[in-house]
Parts: sequence; C-alpha cells; structure tokens
Amino acid sequence: MRSWRTRFAPSPTGHLHLGHAYSALCVWHYAGGDPQNFLLRIDDLDYTRSRPEYVQQIYSDLHWLGIRWQQEPQFQSQRLPRYQAAFAALKQQELIYPCYLSRVETSEIQSAPHDAPERAASTKGVLSQKEQQRRHQAGIQPAWRLDMQRACEMAGPLFINTLHHGTQPAHPEAFGDVIIARRDIQASYHLSVILDDSDSDIELVVRGKDLEPSTHIHRLLQTLLGIAPPLYHHHQLITDDAGKRLAKRDDSRALSSYREKGWSAERIREYLPDIG
Ligand code: GLU
Repeated sequence: MRSWRTRFAPSPTGHLHLGHAYSALCVWHYAGGDPQNFLLRIDDLDYTRSRPEYVQQIYSDLHWLGIRWQQEPQFQSQRLPRYQAAFAALKQQELIYPCYLSRVETSEIQSAPHDAPERAASTKGVLSQKEQQRRHQAGIQPAWRLDMQRACEMAGPLFINTLHHGTQPAHPEAFGDVIIARRDIQASYHLSVILDDSDSDIELVVRGKDLEPSTHIHRLLQTLLGIAPPLYHHHQLITDDAGKRLAKRDDSRALSSYREKGWSAERIREYLPDIG
C-alpha cells in the first residue's frame, strides 16, 4: 500500500477517547507509519471550550499510542487571518449573506414542518433591511450563511473522490444555507478545515463517518474558492455497548483511564477494529 500525507485534527475540548484513538491510528496507518506524513492539527477555534491542558493530553496520548509527527503541530486559532481572507472572497462574490437572527428566532424558522432537521433553512429576507440595520447599529454581529442555491449554481456538479469507494456525487444542497462564518470570529469549521488541508498539502483526509456529511459542503467550498480537493476516507465509528457513538464527556472511555487501569497501547490496538 502506498502512504499518504494526511492529518489528525482533534479539538482540545476534552480527553481523547477510544474513538479518537481509532481515528488517530487510522491516520497513522494511511501515513504509512511515517512521521513526515502525519500532521497534527489542533482544531481550537472553539475558544470557549478549548483548554491547553487538553492539548498536552493529546500529545501524550498520541505518543503513548506510538504515533510520531515531524512537523510542529498547527493551531487553527493562529490562522484566523487566512480564514477571514477566504470569507472576504466569498462575500465579494455575494455567495454569503448576513443573518442577524437570534438562536431562538432561527430555531423557529428551522422547525417549519417541511424542513429536514439537518437542513439549514434560508434566513434571507426574513428580516427587513431596516430591521437588519437596526440590529447592526445596536452592535449585533451577524452570522454569515452560504447562499446554497447560488453557490451550487456557480459550482456546477460536484464529486467526492474516496479512497475505497471511487468517485461519488456530492450533494451540498441537502444541507441548506449553512453557517460559514460565526458571529465572533468570521470563520467556521467548514471554512477552516478546507483551507488548512489545502495549505498543508494534505493528500488524503481520513476522519470518521460522522463527518461524512460535511465533506459534501467542503467540496462545494473548495470549488468556490478554487482549491484542489484531497482524497477522502471516512472510517467506521467506535460505539459504546449500547451502540451509541462515544462522547468526550464519557470519561470512562478516555484513553487516559485505560492507561491508568494498566492497559498497554498494544492491548488498545487489539481491542479496536481492524483498519482498512
Ligand atoms: N476537529 C474535528 C473534530 O474533532 C475534526 C476535523 C476534521 O477531521 O475534519 O471532530
């Protein structure tokens, strides 16, 4: 098997658990066990929940698993100007629009019976220009939403190249007018990851199936911003005994708890499903 330049990108908002260990080991596998191919990115855009002690814990958990990286880890919090430049490019093309609605107001629109729960409703035109101006003058920062219809028309048909399942059509339209820039930082998960992966010359994005829907949105944003897409692999998720995806707050599944109980990294690897 050839190896790929790939990355592991945890958010430092809690302890890594078995699901993260599996994800990191998948990335390490596709990197061919080569520290030059394995990039570590700390996704710390959520500054209200990110903590330096979790970053340290990520380093020590990954080392314990036998994973090594050569390049200095990258921190999303240090790349805001890059995200904001891409935001400005989308704005200039009128592909995004400000949304001054509060969370409560948005959820009222969202719960209209015809809306699928995962589809973000369009909020364009919900508030009059005058009301938008009033909120602006009152110091309210807007979130910025993608004008999905216009964006899809501009981008044309889109495809996702996957490592194991060939080329698949991408359907970003299913997700509606997603938020592309948060009120506070004018960036978002969707915008930041495509820029980071591209700037780091990532060839293969390996991440869990829970993020597969986001890939549809990422393909659209890459096309709008003229970014060449990587190859994708979405690995299976590790679930608890009840079949539920592991959550960060479930500390009993934290890697550090297994370490404290005397488990070896070898035992963790054997316990987790085969990678492939
Ligand atoms: N930071 C994201 C997470 O922890 C993963 C980002 C990605 O792999 O694209 O869920």
